[in-house]
Amino acid sequence: LTFAALKLHDALLAALNEAGYTEPTPVQAQAIPIALEGKDLMASAQTGTGKTAAFILPALHRITQTPGGPGKGPRILVLTPTRELARQVESAARIYGARLRVRTASILGGMNYQQQARQLQRPVDVMVATPGRLLDLMNRGQIKLDRVEVLVLDEADRMLDLGFIDDVELIAEQAPAERQTLLFSATLENRIATLAERVMRNPERLQI
Ligand code: AMP
Repeated sequence: LTFAALKLHDALLAALNEAGYTEPTPVQAQAIPIALEGKDLMASAQTGTGKTAAFILPALHRITQTPGGPGKGPRILVLTPTRELARQVESAARIYGARLRVRTASILGGMNYQQQARQLQRPVDVMVATPGRLLDLMNRGQIKLDRVEVLVLDEADRMLDLGFIDDVELIAEQAPAERQTLLFSATLENRIATLAERVMRNPERLQI
């Protein structure tokens, strides 16, 4: 199987080619077709399996197919448990989205508010955020989620371990109901299924 067979946008195929990736990893091969159909998806995948591209590629593909509404808020929102993971996801979005001129931003706990305010003045396509700080800025009226087309919960089990469950649910409630939601977690235990019931619509389940 090649990435081209997955029918991703040419600009994404070119970026993958430049990165030297020709074959999708198992999680990519299974998750990308489901995500490209627009379905909600919950997948078990460990770090190192290529899970980042498994959600970023179909999310970027999707925003090439839609006009995106007016406003400045993100069209793709990725929630991560830690700043370090957020930085990795933002970097992946930049690499894969390079030819689409994707604009990225990160909203991270511990970041200086002035720095953050500067990032929020321009429209953004992909926002990667840790839940606490994002909710804080939403409550201050500095970020609106009305343009979100794809919401990603990355390492959902770790977000729950860190006590972010309520924040994640509050954030998901503010995104449009017709969004797509993609959830990745090391395991799909009961508490993940419960979260999925609250924030997803008939998700496909993928056990890698
Ligand atoms: P992740 O699990 O998303 O943290 O990715 C693990 C590593 O695999 C990262 O360094 C990626 O750049 C790399 N990677 C992702 N997809 C592929 C692929 N299809 N072929 C080769 N390497 C990949």
